[in-house]
Amino acid sequence: MTCRNRNEFVADFDLVIIGASFAGLAAARTAAMRGLKVAILEAKREPGARVHTTGILVPEAAEEIDIPFWLTRRVPGVRLYAPNMKSIDLFSPGYAFMTTRTADLLRWLAREAVMAGAKLICGTKFRGAEHVGPLIRIAGEDMTTRFLIGADGARSRVARTFRLDVNEKFLTGIEVEMEPSDRLDKRFLHCFAGSALAPGYIGWAAPGPDVTQVGLAVSGGRKPDLNGFLEKTSPLFHWDRSAIRERRSGVIPCGGPLKRFAEGNVMLIGDAAGWVSPMTAGGIRTAFRYGRRAGALTADHLLCGGLSPDILLKRQVPRFWLKGLLRSGLDINLPDAVLNTALATAPMRTFAERIYFHRRGARGIDRKSYLRWLEANDFSAGPVWRNGSSG
Ligand SMILES: Cc1cc2nc3c(=O)[nH]c(=O)nc-3n(C[C@H](O)[C@H](O)[C@H](O)COP(=O)(O)OP(=O)(O)OC[C@H]3O[C@@H](n4cnc5c(N)ncnc54)[C@H](O)[C@@H]3O)c2cc1C
Repeated sequence: MTCRNRNEFVADFDLVIIGASFAGLAAARTAAMRGLKVAILEAKREPGARVHTTGILVPEAAEEIDIPFWLTRRVPGVRLYAPNMKSIDLFSPGYAFMTTRTADLLRWLAREAVMAGAKLICGTKFRGAEHVGPLIRIAGEDMTTRFLIGADGARSRVARTFRLDVNEKFLTGIEVEMEPSDRLDKRFLHCFAGSALAPGYIGWAAPGPDVTQVGLAVSGGRKPDLNGFLEKTSPLFHWDRSAIRERRSGVIPCGGPLKRFAEGNVMLIGDAAGWVSPMTAGGIRTAFRYGRRAGALTADHLLCGGLSPDILLKRQVPRFWLKGLLRSGLDINLPDAVLNTALATAPMRTFAERIYFHRRGARGIDRKSYLRWLEANDFSAGPVWRNGSSG
């Protein structure tokens, strides 16, 4: 397809997307399906290489892109530990998180985008770009485009090139992938609160489909003490018996959506635009949902003269006001003694359930009946649970 605009400038592509991860691939797939000529530039040698995320999905995220079930493992409950290691079990019948084979998930998404018609160019780092009339020329590449999307993560180069807003507030996360531990109860995501070990966020041990993922994230530019965390949790899980397969780390924007995330025919999406919940630090669901919408709206704009996609996206992307406030609360970093007492109280339990399960809670079902139900059903496999289908 040759693209012509009103001034007869000819572009190589309708849409170039920088970054082949959750947001960029979701946008590319949708835009290509809508008939745009799309290229995705990715710095890494392939989309699944050097993954930096735990990759846990809420069910809504999985539904957003019709994720194949072999890429996931269902984890229905959350076991939340106080700093003194006493724990409470949180659950919401009908709800389950999904841990993922994250590298394979990204490869699958990339294949989907390519099958829809997008061109994936890996091992190519975006270094800059300039406007040429109504088009954008990518520096160092023989390539012009009518529209450019920056899906290049928390420290976006596209944002800096076009002087858009940049993320300024981050959590720092670090994680290891270990051989599965027999001591880890796979019905739960194990989450650890504690201002000494995980100031501003939590530590976690998650039963993935093939490995156990153990990590922690902290706020305020601190360095996460992963060894200290492994040491503290080892009496529970015997980490000394599980070999470490992989290590990863990265930053998570937690300052909320950026105000100036677009200008003319350049737009940021995903982490680059700050589309991450400041409270939970989850960004994959928003990357999928609004990445897809960005693809569709860009197609409407370029093919049918629809409104500029950022105008519509600005109205749709959540502002995370409440979660931003709660983030300020987390940054206060309550002393461990206060957390020990608070986590044992009923209001705190209700609050935690609402945060983890998106306002749903135990719905009057007691822990024993719930665990009995889990035992009678294969909770780890099968299609995503639909809300309310508690069986
Ligand atoms: C340790 C950790 C754990 C996390 N756990 C979870 C979780 O369990 N659940 C959840 O929902 N969220 C989690 N997050 C957040 C989540 O990973 C991000 O919100 C999500 O990855 C955002 O996707 P994205 O496509 O916007 O950006 P990214 O996934 O960051 O992808 C950006 C892509 O752009 C590429 N790129 C960057 N610069 C350039 C360039 N100059 N040229 C070309 N390509 C470039 C990168 O290589 C990368 O492929 C976690 C984050 C971290 C750091």
